[in-house]
Amino acid sequence: MATRRTLIEHGTLIDGLGNAPFKGSVLFDESGILAVGEMDPAVTADPGLIRIDARGKHVMPGMIDAHCHITFDEPHSNDELFFHRRPGLAAIIAAYNAHKVLQAGVTGFLDADCIFDLGVDLRDAIEANVVAGPRMSTGGYVMMTGVGGTAGRLLPDTGTRGYGVVVGSREEIVAEVRRQIKIGVDWIKVHVTGIIPRQAEAGEIQIWSLEELRIVVDTAHQLGIPVAGHCRNASSTRDAARAGFDLILHATYMDDEALEALVKHGTPIVPSLTFQANLADHGDLVNASPELRAIFRREIEESAAMLRRAVDAGVPLLCGSESGFALTPYGEWHYRELQLFVEEFGLSPLEAIRCATSEAARALKMYGKTGALKAGMHADLLVIDGDPVADIRILGDKRRLEHIFVGGRAVSREPPRARAPISGWRVGQFAERALTWDMAHGRG
Ligand SMILES: [Zn+2]
Repeated sequence: MATRRTLIEHGTLIDGLGNAPFKGSVLFDESGILAVGEMDPAVTADPGLIRIDARGKHVMPGMIDAHCHITFDEPHSNDELFFHRRPGLAAIIAAYNAHKVLQAGVTGFLDADCIFDLGVDLRDAIEANVVAGPRMSTGGYVMMTGVGGTAGRLLPDTGTRGYGVVVGSREEIVAEVRRQIKIGVDWIKVHVTGIIPRQAEAGEIQIWSLEELRIVVDTAHQLGIPVAGHCRNASSTRDAARAGFDLILHATYMDDEALEALVKHGTPIVPSLTFQANLADHGDLVNASPELRAIFRREIEESAAMLRRAVDAGVPLLCGSESGFALTPYGEWHYRELQLFVEEFGLSPLEAIRCATSEAARALKMYGKTGALKAGMHADLLVIDGDPVADIRILGDKRRLEHIFVGGRAVSREPPRARAPISGWRVGQFAERALTWDMAHGRG
């Protein structure tokens, strides 16, 4: 049975493909977008249409966040994330957070790695309409070598913890890729860089060999599954591109060789500068350490020029906010990556919107199927009271999001219920600093 059709009329349309905005209407139902632009009067005369008057409003595709950690629940530290989460409750809370993400105008996201392999279950629950959420594409545990990835010695020598699984031999790598694909992941994710103590080079270094990366990619590709890499230095981005990775998260600190490899292979990148920018710009509000803030500011400054060169050379650029941490809570900062693309890379707002819509659809494995106002696309779209082309930050103001549609269905606009603290869920501390004799006696 055909579903009821909706007509959003008289709006200014931003197509998500980078074209100049134009006046017109959008006609759609649950099967997809039926027509865009000037409408045939015979069609708009249908009394059975659901009509939305978008005069003075902007209509655009829903945002797609290519880097969102839906199962983390805003941890304040890796210790909290790795040692204060339990699988059942984490899944229930992830569903609560998916609702928040959707209410921020995000109609699709990629969660490339999740704690306890929960992503597959959440995705299936969203698709079955058991819980409300954006379209979701998911990985399982992120694969790391024994040296420990971004969480260093918090990771065990073998097995899983938090969002990570440690693999060593070729046999282990192949077995883990196949295991994840068996449970139904959309993506395999690899931490290609990690933090090593007492190393000369500051920041993250490559923790996989090119040979090992090729084993991951060949095994996954043979089964039709793409591979995403967390790459936060030059050699990791170069080798991930050479190994055939399908998506690179961060791609920061590139050198010429890394850039050349990216361009040659056309590997899409998700710089994910929002976490760093939030820490650098607003870290004082949440008592982040000044040293950490300086490190992250430097990562943006040192990477922006190379990332811009990659974009100019035709490398696909996707918006991903790294939402899911205390510094990037759900439903708050998804729009900020667009703003940073404008400010740091000099993109126009329309280009930034394209990176968060039609381009970011690559992360959902739905390139050419959603993320654009075009007949035949899925009807994932927003009606906004305001002009994001004049001011991209408008996309962060949830009060201006008048309508959200996913798959042609109106999203009910309920604010998330306020939640109370859960015992043992956040890291507790005895004190912020050590209580010395001097302090107790008014001398410290
Ligand atoms: Zn991430």
